[in-house]
Amino acid sequence: MHELAIAKNIKDIVEEQVKEHNEIKKVERIKLVIGNMHAVVPESLRFNFKLLCKDTPFENTLLDIKEIPVRGECNTCGKSFIMENHLFICPFCGSISISIKGGDEFFIESIIGEE
Ligand SMILES: [Zn+2]
Repeated sequence: MHELAIAKNIKDIVEEQVKEHNEIKKVERIKLVIGNMHAVVPESLRFNFKLLCKDTPFENTLLDIKEIPVRGECNTCGKSFIMENHLFICPFCGSISISIKGGDEFFIESIIGEE
C-alpha cells in the first residue's frame, strides 16, 4: 500500500497550502513530478487519493502525474541511457559500474485552485 501513504502525504501538503491561501475553496488539479525510481503506479495513486479525499474539498481534484525516467550514466564508457527495469548494466559496453542521474524526483509542481 505504498500509494496510499503517498496519497495521504499529498493530501496533507495540499490541505496545508489551501489553509495558507484562504481564497482557494476548491483544488482543481495537482501537478506532481515523480521519478520512476519510486515505482509509483499512477492509476493506483489516483485511486487512493480519490478514496482518501471522499467528502473533502479535494474529492474531484485531478492528479496530473509527470513521470521522470531513471537515467544512468556509465562510469566506463561515459554514455547515459534510460534504465529499464532497474537493470544496472550499461547497454553500450556491458559495464556494471553505473551512476544514477535522475528518476528520484518527487515533488508537487503546482496546485491549481478554483477561487
Ligand atoms: Zn558503458
